[in-house]
Amino acid sequence: MKLTFYGAAREVTGSNFILDAAGKRIMIDCGLFQGSSATKAKNFDGFKYDVQSVDYVLLTHAHIDHSGRIPLLYKKGYRGTVICTKATKDLCDIMLVDSANIQESDTQYKNNKRFRAGLLPLEPLYTIEDANLALKHFIAVQYYDLIKLDDNITVKFSDAGHMLGSASITIFVTEEGKTTTVSFTSDLGKPDTPIINNPEVLQECDYLVMESTYGNKKHILKEHPEERMFEIIEDTISNGGTVIIPSFSVGRTQEMIYAFNENIALKKKFSIFNKIPVYVDSPLSTLATEVFKKNTQYFDDEAKQYILKGDNPLDFPNLIFTKSVEESKRLNFDNSPKIIISSSGMCDAGRIRHHLKHNLYKEKTTVLFIGYQANGSLGRLLVDGAKSVKLLGETIEVNARIEMIDGFSGHADMDDLDKYISQIKVKPEKIFLVHGEEDQLYPFAERINNTFGIETVIPENYYTYELKKGEKVYELDHDRVLTENTYKKLTLLDLVTDVKRQVKDVSELIAYDEINNLDDSQITVLIDLYAAMRQNIKDLILGVESNTKVER
Ligand SMILES: [Zn+2]
Repeated sequence: MKLTFYGAAREVTGSNFILDAAGKRIMIDCGLFQGSSATKAKNFDGFKYDVQSVDYVLLTHAHIDHSGRIPLLYKKGYRGTVICTKATKDLCDIMLVDSANIQESDTQYKNNKRFRAGLLPLEPLYTIEDANLALKHFIAVQYYDLIKLDDNITVKFSDAGHMLGSASITIFVTEEGKTTTVSFTSDLGKPDTPIINNPEVLQECDYLVMESTYGNKKHILKEHPEERMFEIIEDTISNGGTVIIPSFSVGRTQEMIYAFNENIALKKKFSIFNKIPVYVDSPLSTLATEVFKKNTQYFDDEAKQYILKGDNPLDFPNLIFTKSVEESKRLNFDNSPKIIISSSGMCDAGRIRHHLKHNLYKEKTTVLFIGYQANGSLGRLLVDGAKSVKLLGETIEVNARIEMIDGFSGHADMDDLDKYISQIKVKPEKIFLVHGEEDQLYPFAERINNTFGIETVIPENYYTYELKKGEKVYELDHDRVLTENTYKKLTLLDLVTDVKRQVKDVSELIAYDEINNLDDSQITVLIDLYAAMRQNIKDLILGVESNTKVER
């Protein structure tokens, strides 16, 4: 039995694993790479395996870093099924079409520019048609059902408590009369996340592929993050400001609505909240909220109680879902205090960018982050204290108050992850740690070793491991060419990013007074250096473009 990692290895996005077992190829998740432009470029690298050789796709949950390349699989010829829970299927119905829409419109925007420059048009990663084709092949299953893929392979989904319909997946494989169990935790939720149930701990497995987003980090504000949120809102609103909450459209936004709705005591204490409008400004969030309302069987007991009492847990009087683009734009020019919940959660796309552009420079604004901000994202820059940011072609000064409440995280923290392992009755032989950045992976691996005596592996992308019960996991010869190619591309992209940053630094030096300290000859040297650099860059662009120039 072989397990290969094609994404989310030593990184947090692009989840994609393949288990070759009992003569079948089973894929677990096929997500988009998200974050910096170097990471996003990996989506266009193509699959490093023959997609038609895959027999089944098992999907843990609808988040786009787990599901977002499924339409690309169908574009490339995969015609098998995608097996997931009903809520995941319902959410993918809207999320994959939305993702395709973004791919199409981004490409259209780039192509308009390329057309004017006489360059060949680009193809979108995939289209709405590809997404719709993929969605026809989704099959919904129930948690805890034993799904027999064939005589030797059985699959079980259990509740991962991370978002509506999210699952950990266990695969039972019988080879030569022996059954081996491989489990994938996927993203594990934080216990007591509103609306949904707590993560279900796996009972037993031989091999575990485990997420490590917060493998070495504790959520600071674990208890009652709502109180802190209401405090920040009260502060900002009473100063006449606006609170902007960047939020993932699916999951987090609904949890926020629920948190605003259910905390009656806090709403009494911070009563200003009831007097201001709370806008949810994201078409996808509006659609997703409808999917939540149709899937109340996935709610936890508390949320179910609300419904039984006749209350809608996802609605309250001052909540407004914006509908049209015009309505969204109007919010940018309305200076009255309000709360805007908009997406994307890491501020890399979507309407949130317009709200930030119109509010970040204002001192009265508060931007309140409530979720994970990946390296390289605009959200991470803001959380890390950037003084100015580039947004929609403009440089915007950051004068707003930036706050982060990590207690709403959709992910278990290090204590929760340790507790999870401690509760597995029959411990795995090996744990593969994925879905984490390196500063989280290594300390987590060491802790697992010391606390539980379980051997861990921190795989790299394109590495394959042979799994034989009772034997040491060994690494098969990985595809060095692939690793090297990707590495070179990333190095180039890093260099480009670096040059961009350096040029920006120099232009700031020139704009401010530092230049006055230089004498004429020093300035002449700088002019010569930059003229030479400009020529080099021109040559570089010509070199890249010569392959893509249109004959006219
Ligand atoms: Zn997720």
